Amino acid sequence: MVERTLSIIKPDCVAAKNAGKVISMLEENGFNIIGMKKIHLTKKQAKKFYIVHKDRPFYDSLTDFMSEGPIVVMVLEKENAIADYRKLMGATNPEEAEEGTIRKLYGSNIERNAVHGSDSEESANYEIKFFFNELELV
Ligand code: UDP
Repeated sequence: MVERTLSIIKPDCVAAKNAGKVISMLEENGFNIIGMKKIHLTKKQAKKFYIVHKDRPFYDSLTDFMSEGPIVVMVLEKENAIADYRKLMGATNPEEAEEGTIRKLYGSNIERNAVHGSDSEESANYEIKFFFNELELV
């Protein structure tokens, strides 16, 4: 089934000038980028995006990080996009991520881990609508 998922290149990865390499990996792995923009979230917007984590101990630090600099937000489309992109990203903690994954290559630690990807169809729908309207998806 053709699916859509939301991808974010996080502030650490954009600041390190690794965004282009991540985008190349997405294209090489068969993802169609059907929407893309560079934005700088406010703390308030980052808190809203990560609202599911509001009771987790890392919520405040995570939302500081996600609002510290620009991010690149993309909608990816492909068969099985949600699971396939999670696999390409690697484990949340870069130290535990498989060789060749984005987080292994470009992540620094469990918080500053280079990229985000939706974890289910339900979160993909919410997250895509959070950043894009239908006119922005090609
Ligand atoms: N995170 C963190 N500390 C933790 C777990 C997660 O700072 O102990 C951050 C990390 O940036 C992660 C994000 O919170 O990507 C969302 O966490 P989740 O468990 O949903 O991981 P993901 O789905 O991004 O792999």
